[in-house]
Amino acid sequence: MKRNQYTYIERNKNHDDSFICRNCGAPVHSWAPGTSQRNHCPYCLHSLHVDITPGDRKELCRGIMEPIGLWVREDGDTALLHRCRKCGALRSNRLAGDDDDRALRTLAETALQAVESAGK
Ligand SMILES: [Zn+2]
Ligand SMILES: [Zn+2]
Repeated sequence: MKRNQYTYIERNKNHDDSFICRNCGAPVHSWAPGTSQRNHCPYCLHSLHVDITPGDRKELCRGIMEPIGLWVREDGDTALLHRCRKCGALRSNRLAGDDDDRALRTLAETALQAVESAGK
């Protein structure tokens, strides 16, 4: 399992799949520490609705996917939850090692504040 993942990263590094973030305009490199597939911007955490299954790029929607929450999986992995602004689809994406800590904190705090102001 670990070995397969490593091979995948190596392969992905040679295949340049870098993109410009549609939300904040930052140039994003395809290679990311801690994940085999860069699928969101490390600065603003937004993504694009391009995959039907992760990495296939077969989705035709191409809407901007907004980060709406954090998910700690049973195996201890942390993932971001994304919702497509265009079609409303929900996706989960593993966090990358260089995702911006402040952006992650802001996301968690925004949710917390919303809960508090709703009086729950
Ligand atoms: Zn961005
Ligand atoms: Zn969509």
